[in-house]
Amino acid sequence: MSTLLGLECHLCHTRFPADALFVCDRCFGPLEPVYDYDRARATLTRDALAGRPKNLWRYRELLPITDAPRTGLHSGFTPLVKADHLAHRLGVRELYVKDDSVNHPTLSYKDRVVSVAATRAMELGFTVFGCASTGNLANSVSAHAARLGLSCYVFIPDDLEPAKVLGSQVYDPQVVAIRGTYDDVNRLCTQVADKHHWGFANINLRSYYAEGAKTVGFEIAEQLGWRFPQHVVSPVAGGTLLPRIARGFRECRYLGLAEGEIPKIYAAQADGCAPVVRALHDGLDHPDPVRPATIAKSIAIGNPADGFQVLETVRETGGWGATATDPEILDGIQLLAETEGIFTEPAGGTTVAATRRLIEEGRIARDESIVICITGNGYKTSELMLDRMAQPVHLSRALRDFDAWLEERESARCEVRAPRAVSGTRDRGKVSSKTSPEALFPKA
Ligand SMILES: *Cc1c(COP(=O)(O)O)cnc(C)c1O
Repeated sequence: MSTLLGLECHLCHTRFPADALFVCDRCFGPLEPVYDYDRARATLTRDALAGRPKNLWRYRELLPITDAPRTGLHSGFTPLVKADHLAHRLGVRELYVKDDSVNHPTLSYKDRVVSVAATRAMELGFTVFGCASTGNLANSVSAHAARLGLSCYVFIPDDLEPAKVLGSQVYDPQVVAIRGTYDDVNRLCTQVADKHHWGFANINLRSYYAEGAKTVGFEIAEQLGWRFPQHVVSPVAGGTLLPRIARGFRECRYLGLAEGEIPKIYAAQADGCAPVVRALHDGLDHPDPVRPATIAKSIAIGNPADGFQVLETVRETGGWGATATDPEILDGIQLLAETEGIFTEPAGGTTVAATRRLIEEGRIARDESIVICITGNGYKTSELMLDRMAQPVHLSRALRDFDAWLEERESARCEVRAPRAVSGTRDRGKVSSKTSPEALFPKA
């Protein structure tokens, strides 16, 4: 009862069988699954969805597997958080955070794409599962392979954050650390996949992997009550996620689940690795590859596989792109944490900072609805924030010491604040929640 009909070239529309194929042998375009949409429409209804488990397989009719899901039974359907405090600080009216920093089981958006790729790898008979990764993908591939009992090889650049590497090692895959950039790792993995016939989530299984990312679009629409926001900001690394969010929205509309205009979609990249945003700003048809130099390692891909599709989607929807410097990325992490209680990694800090820039530049209107995609978890890269943290106060266990310290602190605060006596103001020179957005970010 599968709806999966086969694969089709995104560019020349040649049809292929649903095998481990990822590039068109006629025009080298990327391949994407095609479905029997009439059949999907019959069962994938709002009513049916209301009764399904809250994981990404609830949209199963539009996911490229032929049998039952094997993994990812708790992946996806992450919170869509109404972010009123962050909205206030950015000076906008309606803002949501799509929070994949708490995705199951490895705390990033990659658990979606890997659930689909791993299930399809099993269906296609692969016994070795692997990936080329900047960290999060390796974590997710390792965890899903462990559950499925698949042999696992994950390839990473050899300069990743220690917690990101450990987040793979603990599941006992073979970690292969390559002296080189992600783009070097990817090139090697393409050769390994071909020579050894292993299933690589983001290489020869890429057509299936990418479909997992559509569920971000489905979920945003469903969680808003089958409505689209007006703007969506997504980080871009290899370029899987951003175009699939749009594909998800379009499929929702095609199946009659939601109606209305497709949101404008914006690309967020680090200043030190922004091939896609530069191409948008310079009006190029294809991104020019760059050599990454940024703390945002999980999105440091200098030659994005789906860069063309990102440009196409941003342009078709009327979006734009913005970058963030390393200090702005750390500010973005801090801002999201202190306003919404969400601790993200540099990819998320990049998205927050780029959103701020797009708002300040007037690209995103302040009175329209915005969703920002937070794709990774800050506990994996916490050492980056160490220098910026206020130190804990060290005291004895005696109450009188605590009280003495508290009294001293309060009198110090009174001296600083005396002339204004504003309530609701927090420490470290932060602004009052009563301050107007214009005061914070003057429109100069
Ligand atoms: C992989 C990743 C992305 C986006 O990657 P794409 O290849 O563009 O889909 C964004 N954020 C984090 C944290 C990631 O790990």
